[in-house]
Amino acid sequence: MGTMFRIVLYSDDSEQAHSAIRAAFDRVAQLDRELSDYKPDSELNRVCREAVGHDTGISDDLYFVLRAAQLLAERTNGAFDISIGPVVRLWRRARQTKQMPDPSALSAAMRLVGYRHIHLGDRTLRFDMQGMQLDLGAIAKGYAADEALRLLRGFGFAQALVAASGDISVGDSPPQKSGWEIGADSFKAPKDHFTRTLTLHNQSVSTSGDTEQYVEIEGLRYSHIVDPKTGIGLRHRSSVTVIANTGIDSDSLATAASVIAEQQGTSRALALIESFDAKGVVIAERDGRVTESETKGSLP
Ligand code: AMP
Ligand code: MG
Repeated sequence: MGTMFRIVLYSDDSEQAHSAIRAAFDRVAQLDRELSDYKPDSELNRVCREAVGHDTGISDDLYFVLRAAQLLAERTNGAFDISIGPVVRLWRRARQTKQMPDPSALSAAMRLVGYRHIHLGDRTLRFDMQGMQLDLGAIAKGYAADEALRLLRGFGFAQALVAASGDISVGDSPPQKSGWEIGADSFKAPKDHFTRTLTLHNQSVSTSGDTEQYVEIEGLRYSHIVDPKTGIGLRHRSSVTVIANTGIDSDSLATAASVIAEQQGTSRALALIESFDAKGVVIAERDGRVTESETKGSLP
């Protein structure tokens, strides 16, 4: 999934703990083989090639993630759209070359985008068009963190944390603590500092934004998160942190809320987060002015 996973847990049996951790990493590796779009032979990439025009069987994991992604696509009217793959690939190249994507390539890629061209049945998948490419980069890491945590709990290690870079799922609190202290990052925070610290147990937190992944071309900034309406990387700086009951929700909602904040403003982004019974913070920059707003109620 193009990232590092980190596991922390409390146990007084180091041998057992290590075999649990190994099993959790194995589960993450399995999900990587299924869900990654970086690996040419992942299940995801294979079905993208094969499931054009006819229903094709998919794994339980792929089904679960696609179902959540499609639900969020509907709820956001396509602001979150995993069929954005062909466009994301052009922007990945733009980040390397520091050149804008070629306009005709971009419009060709945009013709392959649209979550309504993905048909999800009961563990089957079908695409309307040849060349469609799914990208689970905004949702798979959160799901993988959930799954690794579930596995550790199954081994009897509930006091655990799984971090997939900006997507973190935590189980029961560490001994004598009320929760895991997680620093939330934003573009506003000085380097190696956090904008705030959250104390979490049995929850997940994700931050999306362009602090690390963006490209600057002719003085303009483009995020790795793309607005599916325009095909252009988000232009305004933002950092969205979401706290939810699961990593699959916090991960996907943080990305979706970033797009909504750009398209429709901060309050609509916060409303989306609240509609999933989640909490969050949206930090956004408009015309040099930075605003910071939260969902209703206090953050953990
Ligand atoms: P995250 O880091 O979780 O915010 O996810 C960002 C990644 O999601 C990008 O690197 C792309 O792979 C993918 N992505 C970009 N734009 C969208 C979008 N509008 N909807 C869904 N996924 C997206
Ligand atoms: Mg995300």
